[in-house]
Amino acid sequence: MTNSKTLYRMFRLSVLLPLFFALSCQKPQEASVSKQPDPMVQETVEFQGDVEHIFFHPLIIHKKDSFFNRANRHYNYIQLWFVTLGEFQRVLESLYQRNYILVDIYDTYKSDGKGIHKQSLRLPKGKKPFVMSVDDLNYYKAHIKNGTVSRLVLDKGVIASEEIQPDGTTQIGHNNIVSQLEKFIALHPDFSWKGARAMIALTGFDGVLGYRTQKKGIADEEKALAQPIIDKLKSMKYRFASHSYVHIFSQKVSYATFKRDTDLWEERIASLVGKTDLYIWAYGEDTYNNDKFAYLYQKGFRFFMGVGNVTVPQIRHYRKQPYFFSYRIPIDGKYMTGVFWGSKKSPFFDITKVRDKDRPARI
Ligand SMILES: [Zn+2]
Repeated sequence: MTNSKTLYRMFRLSVLLPLFFALSCQKPQEASVSKQPDPMVQETVEFQGDVEHIFFHPLIIHKKDSFFNRANRHYNYIQLWFVTLGEFQRVLESLYQRNYILVDIYDTYKSDGKGIHKQSLRLPKGKKPFVMSVDDLNYYKAHIKNGTVSRLVLDKGVIASEEIQPDGTTQIGHNNIVSQLEKFIALHPDFSWKGARAMIALTGFDGVLGYRTQKKGIADEEKALAQPIIDKLKSMKYRFASHSYVHIFSQKVSYATFKRDTDLWEERIASLVGKTDLYIWAYGEDTYNNDKFAYLYQKGFRFFMGVGNVTVPQIRHYRKQPYFFSYRIPIDGKYMTGVFWGSKKSPFFDITKVRDKDRPARI
């Protein structure tokens, strides 16, 4: 996985809808619900094999100069690591057409604090499970500048986003990745197994979900604004993962720096999103069998996820202590352009059909 690590070092910043029974001609008072076939009781089979894990970054909703112009200093950054709103919508459609079903990571493996246990995953016949994560859903200022939404908000109790329009005005919309996934699941409830949602990997150096919770003077106010959105996402079954506090190069920094970063995340982000055992390596740069890893383990992290072209989830051990490990497949600009190994033969979609028509053929 050296290639993916190298590439990731380049990453510069860094309802289920009500299911209505087919009603018979009987008058409602005569209808006996118990005699109706229950569409939720489907034939399930135990899934054999590896559960895939794919991940995204926030969506580009406005294709700006950085998307088209090679001379723009953010061009590579945008082209390499992001997909557009349209691409994301077509990816979901293709996953669904190809019988993929979103599952919760904890329905694949579970930790009881001491051991990691592979779960028996029974799915409707023919369905192929996948786990999804979204990295850096912080809405960094650099991302907003290049065309993402500016922050998540609650609009009449529903997750929505503030979106800066090309004319500079701000509108409330639903073009963020969470709302888009919700919209798709509302249309296709069988796309999500047991209400599974995505994992959200957060750093903290530029706030969370578009709130500048790190900024002196306004941190408390921003935290108070972010908290109801975090709580709402948790109630919807989104999981939160640590992505380190500063998007850290875990292999390069000293133990002291790494420890401080881990403590900062715990103090400033876990205090908002709650304790988690999920850790997503920044830059896909993982490090094991050393004191840095031991510190993460001591802090309660048990699921460690990197980047690769195959997922291969597995139970590994560090000094006889078990942890979960998997790679995650990056669905990003490199993948869309076919330069990520394997993406031209993607099992998830045909890149030539999904790719944004405005995306240059090569990066
Ligand atoms: Zn990241």
